[in-house]
Amino acid sequence: MNGERILEVRGLCVDYGQGPGAVHAVTAASLTLHKGEVLGIAGESGSGKSTFALASTRLLRPPGVITGGSARMYFEDGSVVDLLEADYDVLRVLRWSQVSLVLQSAMNALNPVMTIRAQLTDALAAHEREISRQERRARAAELLDMVGISSDRLTSHPHELSGGMRQRVMIAMALALRPQVVIMDEPTTALDVVTQREILEELKNLRDRFGFAIIFITHDLSLLIEIADSIAVMYAGKLVERAPADALFHAPRHPYTLGLLSSFPPLHGPRTPMTGIPGSPPDLRSVPAGCVFHPRCRFAFDRCTVDVPSLAVVGGRPDRVAACWLHDRDKPVPAEVAAPEPDEAAWAASTPGPEEPVQQGSTA
Ligand code: SF4
Repeated sequence: MNGERILEVRGLCVDYGQGPGAVHAVTAASLTLHKGEVLGIAGESGSGKSTFALASTRLLRPPGVITGGSARMYFEDGSVVDLLEADYDVLRVLRWSQVSLVLQSAMNALNPVMTIRAQLTDALAAHEREISRQERRARAAELLDMVGISSDRLTSHPHELSGGMRQRVMIAMALALRPQVVIMDEPTTALDVVTQREILEELKNLRDRFGFAIIFITHDLSLLIEIADSIAVMYAGKLVERAPADALFHAPRHPYTLGLLSSFPPLHGPRTPMTGIPGSPPDLRSVPAGCVFHPRCRFAFDRCTVDVPSLAVVGGRPDRVAACWLHDRDKPVPAEVAAPEPDEAAWAASTPGPEEPVQQGSTA
């Protein structure tokens, strides 16, 4: 990871449906993805994390409608393309070759009546017409080997593979054209924990080898702690916190992040009660006034019910932003969201580079 930006999303707004009944799935969200970075996006179901990732790369399908923002992709030759403005011919070239996608259910994504080899070579044939059939076959075997599956399996059909192997095939397909950005939408959710860990290890190795960036979407923050360099947390369609993974895990600054972290048991250290988050996410057709999290927040105070907090730098570190009024008042910040930062040296090693301070809340 070298801190070079590769995808810069600013003010992204996405609705499902139109008119007064439209669901505002993502509201003025801004994030930067750096070369070789694993950016985790976490949040409960319906928080907008998948919609954000799919819309910012124009992979979102109807009835999703992008209503505002930009998503600038930076290329090695110095050119820049706003994916939200690009016409379909440009997008067709960029898909798979620059941006690819791994979905949760490989069984649904793979064609059940085609062999693994046919599916891999089809993807290659669609984008690299100049290479021969023989070369495509060799490349398919190489890709399978790359994700830890023997090339004997090239002639298998998807139903002949285990869930973990099918997911690895999906990863091989996503990497076939050496994209710069791979979006992984809950890629290991349907797998047992041992297979999940194996695949995460494999992904980290592949990322180190090829240098692509990953947007890894999950509701499971504990997974992101293992793989992500930095983590963005979404709630009700808004980004509420972003930080290097280690910092977010050890010292969350937003009460919602704290709630997510309190929703899974720690594997090490003393036993601590799991408190979780009371209540449910709001109806996105009409979100609460002020801070959208206030009905569920145990720290809420008067201002939270009226004013919308903006993402702002907390603790003087430009790579840490949170949208919470607790960090913008005269009283001391509650200890739960003011834990000491983790070791400075470890942090510096894991940080992709300063995140531009972004504004989101005031536009909601
Ligand atoms: Fe809780 Fe208020 Fe912070 Fe929102 S702004 S997370 S309601 S303390």
